[in-house]
Amino acid sequence: MTAEEKTNLARFLDVASGFVRGGYVERRDGYDFSDDPEPGSEEAAVSATSNGADGFEQIEANVRVCKACRLAETRKNAVPGEGVRQPLVMVIGEGPGADEDESGRPFVGKAGQLLDKMLGAIDLSRERNCFIANVIKCRPPRNRDPMPDETFACAPFLERQVQLLNPAFILCAGRIAAQTLLDTSEPIGKIRGKITELNIAGMTIPFLATYHPSALLRNEALKRPAWEDLKLLRSALVEAGFDPAGS
Ligand code: URA
Repeated sequence: MTAEEKTNLARFLDVASGFVRGGYVERRDGYDFSDDPEPGSEEAAVSATSNGADGFEQIEANVRVCKACRLAETRKNAVPGEGVRQPLVMVIGEGPGADEDESGRPFVGKAGQLLDKMLGAIDLSRERNCFIANVIKCRPPRNRDPMPDETFACAPFLERQVQLLNPAFILCAGRIAAQTLLDTSEPIGKIRGKITELNIAGMTIPFLATYHPSALLRNEALKRPAWEDLKLLRSALVEAGFDPAGS
């Protein structure tokens, strides 16, 4: 086998293992390619991004029974995420805490209530135009930071969620999520406050990081810069032609 063939095989195995954990989404009936839309046509763009609810529900089901890392042994409930499909904003936090582990829902504790308030202040909510998820889907014991092999094991779930949700914007909450998504060790104070782009799951999505709501609960001084970040997000959405109040 040539080096190139080995590389291609390794890539294929990577993608296949992602599907096994993140849930395979069947994109066509059988293997008849004769009715494929012309590459680059409007029809091709639509068919590449449209997926049924089945794919999404499959991810949730796979998350709930996942045993890909040690966190499965200590969690009560895995937390796939919640919100609307095709959201304006996908919020990505670190991972479930005690309240989320108990309920199986993301950001429902004190930090979550603050997050909901912050989003509400710029006309966003999980009921209307957001989806809320985390980089890891299970609570680390005693809320320790997730370990690299845990975030690695969980990454295919988030990638499939991003592919299926196709959010217009990603808002990242906190250092761990930002460093994981951007694959950097820069401090959150340096990462936050600017609109950039995130390359994820073969997509490029406008991206903003801000402080985690639990950091705001610990340190009042972070509330002002976090509010600046949210106002920036709202302006960017409006500039891109979205109306958070109307969507
Ligand atoms: N903190 C997070 O990062 N995510 C949650 O879901 C809850 C608290």
